[in-house]
Amino acid sequence: MTDRPLRIGIIGSGFGALSVAIELTRAGHSDVRLWERADSLGGVWRDNTYPGAGCDVPSPLYSFSYAQSTRWHRRYGLQDQILEYLHDTAAAFGITPRIRFSHEVVAAAWDEETTSWTVTFGHGGTDTVDVLVPAIGQLSRPVLPAVPGIDTFEGPSFHSAEWDHSVDLTGTKVAVVGTGASAIQLVPPVAEQAAEVTLFQRSANWILPKLDGPFARWYKPMIRFERPLFWAAAEQFSRGLDDQSRVGRLNQKWAEHHLRRQVPDDALRAKLTPDYPIGCKRILFSNNYYPTLALPHVHVVTERISEVTPTGVVAADGSVHDADVIIYGTGFDAQDFLSSIDVTGRDGTKLATQWVDGAHAYLGIHAPRFPNLLISYGPNTNLGGGSIIYMLEAQARHMRQVVDRMAAGAYRRVEVTESAEAEYDRSVQDELEHSAWAHCDSWYRHRSGRITSNWPGSTHPYARRTRTLEPGAFTWA
Ligand code: NAP
Repeated sequence: MTDRPLRIGIIGSGFGALSVAIELTRAGHSDVRLWERADSLGGVWRDNTYPGAGCDVPSPLYSFSYAQSTRWHRRYGLQDQILEYLHDTAAAFGITPRIRFSHEVVAAAWDEETTSWTVTFGHGGTDTVDVLVPAIGQLSRPVLPAVPGIDTFEGPSFHSAEWDHSVDLTGTKVAVVGTGASAIQLVPPVAEQAAEVTLFQRSANWILPKLDGPFARWYKPMIRFERPLFWAAAEQFSRGLDDQSRVGRLNQKWAEHHLRRQVPDDALRAKLTPDYPIGCKRILFSNNYYPTLALPHVHVVTERISEVTPTGVVAADGSVHDADVIIYGTGFDAQDFLSSIDVTGRDGTKLATQWVDGAHAYLGIHAPRFPNLLISYGPNTNLGGGSIIYMLEAQARHMRQVVDRMAAGAYRRVEVTESAEAEYDRSVQDELEHSAWAHCDSWYRHRSGRITSNWPGSTHPYARRTRTLEPGAFTWA
């Protein structure tokens, strides 16, 4: 090991990347650089600009513990303010000047000789670091549905994460495909503008109300006191995602009540009632989605889409739905973790090959055969409730310990042992068998059937587990 500081490279500039960068620089690690594919920071909060975009986790909780803001306009922050918060926080902690924008990492290769990672950028250049931290999120690759004729549509069409703001929806006929967390936020504002909205719902979702509203000026200094309250509530909520949970049953009753109260029409309510127990797909939160669907110019179609034509959408029952614009709220390629980067570890092992049956990593952070690779928001670290920022901070603290130990002990490489990773994965998968997510398909599951996105249960056990470096779990050299 040389006297120079460890070179640390972080891929991305969203919440995950910033939390690692802040943690490491605050601990005194001076050679930290970030590579961002776009020309500005923010991850999903930069990309998702659809009308109504915001977070369904209260902002006092959906923010860094060490950077609490008293400026939130409302309890559930909207996209523009969350993005502003990220910009402000990156600037306040000195991270912004470390970001190299328009640097898309397309490959990363480990060199055992030099114990370093070399990353290759889309534009051809390379960079070399001692420790590599991919922090590219689980929801950065939008997916369009594999529907025949999708390319033949003659009007504008776009994905919720790639909103085309040049399209004026005023007075148009809009088809919306999908009813996930993104769609339920965008449908109400779209329906305010459009003459007609046809919503294609493949699955109904369980929806709970939001305790939303603007914060009065006098209340703002008090915002931070909400954090522990929402954290405790979210921990209970997450426990409710165990399939036998009493909290889960109460949540289902609450969701049924919300649906009954907001949708008096029996036929519409029947369409909107999920056919699976609450929690299996992500529980959604909204006060304005159901009332929008009850408007006379909004139609819910539950038939599958069989075809897109130049002028609209044809459903499986043969019904034809003309549209001027089609909006796809059809989600993301979340299962092929890190697949946008060709990652090669020791002995030429490809991460994509190692994870062909679904991604797995010790604490979601360490994969055997990939030394000095610390993954942020990796496999089994997503949540069905609560704040992902809490998980990202726990990961960042863990990574800081790894890097501290490398620096203090003059270690050149750290690698998780195969047995520690396998044992960890077994225990997580055992717990997941009892989760609500085991009962239906969702983006949490790999095509092999494994639940590879989510952490089972509440977040505190994960924070506890990541708090220290387990002796024997790693080889240090
Ligand atoms: P999503 O949850 O994956 O929802 C995709 C929707 O598209 C589903 O309703 C899906 O139906 C439907 N769909 C997919 N292919 C289809 C097809 N061929 N025909 C008809 N429908 C089709 O995606 P998302 O709504 O973008 O949300 C993804 C994740 O982003 C969320 O789970 C959440 O973690 C995050 N998010 C968070 C917030 C927030 O407020 N915090 C807001 C937005 C997004 P099926 O259910 O039948 O598959």
